[in-house]
Amino acid sequence: MVRKPIVMANWKMNKLPSEASDYIQHIQKPLLAYPEIETILAGQDVLLDAMVNAAQGTTIEIAAENVYWKERGAYTGETSPAALADLGIKHVIIGHSERRIYFRETNEMVNLKALAALRNGLHPIVAIDEQIQIVSHSDHMHWVVNEVIEALKGINIEDIPNVVLAFEPTQSIGSGQALNADQAQENLYLIRQTVSDMFDAQIADRVRIMYGGSVKPANALALLEKPDIDGVLVGDAALDANTFLELVRLA
Ligand code: PGA
Repeated sequence: MVRKPIVMANWKMNKLPSEASDYIQHIQKPLLAYPEIETILAGQDVLLDAMVNAAQGTTIEIAAENVYWKERGAYTGETSPAALADLGIKHVIIGHSERRIYFRETNEMVNLKALAALRNGLHPIVAIDEQIQIVSHSDHMHWVVNEVIEALKGINIEDIPNVVLAFEPTQSIGSGQALNADQAQENLYLIRQTVSDMFDAQIADRVRIMYGGSVKPANALALLEKPDIDGVLVGDAALDANTFLELVRLA
């Protein structure tokens, strides 16, 4: 099964609306040379309208960084999955380790958000973390497998190909210390096996899984060459539009 590679930027809370539009204008033409790569930009909610407008008619897809699990109601400050879909957003990151750690998101909340995203036609990009400070080495596999099982619980098998998974070890995020490609491959293989056990081998073969955590041009190629690594989710390095383009070229 050939899975379309993804290069995805996670801007986190780092750009202003005007900077978002400039970035998209800068990369849109060069990206036309790489139709075989799916390129996704994730921005904070206040950028999304500007991002969708700037990406109109380009090959760039836009993602939100978080979503709530109800469509409407008295939930001051939350973002509705129906509103994101209405705005033209295609993807949403769910369960990023910064949300799990700073905003106390649990596996149950991640699952509710993934189900709500799918219900509203959004593609969930579910982040699986590995919080080394609280997980001993022997528990590591159990932690990763459990996060995948809890996140995908109750999702219909036909929706699974619309889910993208991302493995992001917490200690690698923003630290400059990416996992080496072999370690990353081991974890992504484990995640794919878990999807296979939960659903079936054919579906697992179709699901795309990204690695994230200090990806940069110097390490991207080694990661992307691994059989189970279908893409990279990039924070710091992708704040610069030229570096993002460089990563797409490498993929
Ligand atoms: P980083 O962030 O590339 O800055 O490590 C990745 C992420 O958190 O998605």
